[in-house]
Amino acid sequence: MNASTSPTPTLVYDIGNHRYLNITARCTLRCQFCPKHNGSKQVHDFDLSLSQRITAEDVLPLLGNVHDVEEYVFCGFGEPTLNLECLLQLAHAIKAQGGRVRLNTDGLGNHFHRRNILPELSQCIDSLSISLNADTPESYQQHCHPKLANSYKALLEFIQLAPQYIPQVQVSAINGLANVNIERCRGIAEQNGAIFKQRELDKIG
Ligand code: SF4
Repeated sequence: MNASTSPTPTLVYDIGNHRYLNITARCTLRCQFCPKHNGSKQVHDFDLSLSQRITAEDVLPLLGNVHDVEEYVFCGFGEPTLNLECLLQLAHAIKAQGGRVRLNTDGLGNHFHRRNILPELSQCIDSLSISLNADTPESYQQHCHPKLANSYKALLEFIQLAPQYIPQVQVSAINGLANVNIERCRGIAEQNGAIFKQRELDKIG
């Protein structure tokens, strides 16, 4: 399903035995390492640009058989929790058929929505992958350029809360970013009961 040669947006795409769901192009961050801010809308040859607002009705017919894939992953060139209603509807539909659901997030969903969305997520999300990306507010500002004030503090609060609601929580940071201490990032993840995932610079998706 490669939309780079077609006007149809890529909402669902497979990499290996994982099926990815691309439900928004909006972001709470403007990461300087993000391909979308470096002239590319592609991950693994999939064009992830979206020009319209995506609803669950757009994606439901594209989900396919949940038993054909290991898990569904909300991911893409946007923050899935910014399209929360669509995310929840799709995740519930996948769970109802016996599938597994992972959410890749910047961890700012509570901050953006100004409430704790984890109870809602806990009803339909099996695992969370949270991008930490920095061990200080200064380096977070430098690399991620959050749009909302106090985002780093809100992110740390989300990382602290998440394991109380979601069975598997992974926290990631990118090795090789200037002024980021990867071992301190690992410490933040592990002291909150999450698994740390070290990513490498220039390998997105
Ligand atoms: S959160 Fe992801 S999609 Fe958004 S700017 Fe950062 S790297 Fe890009």
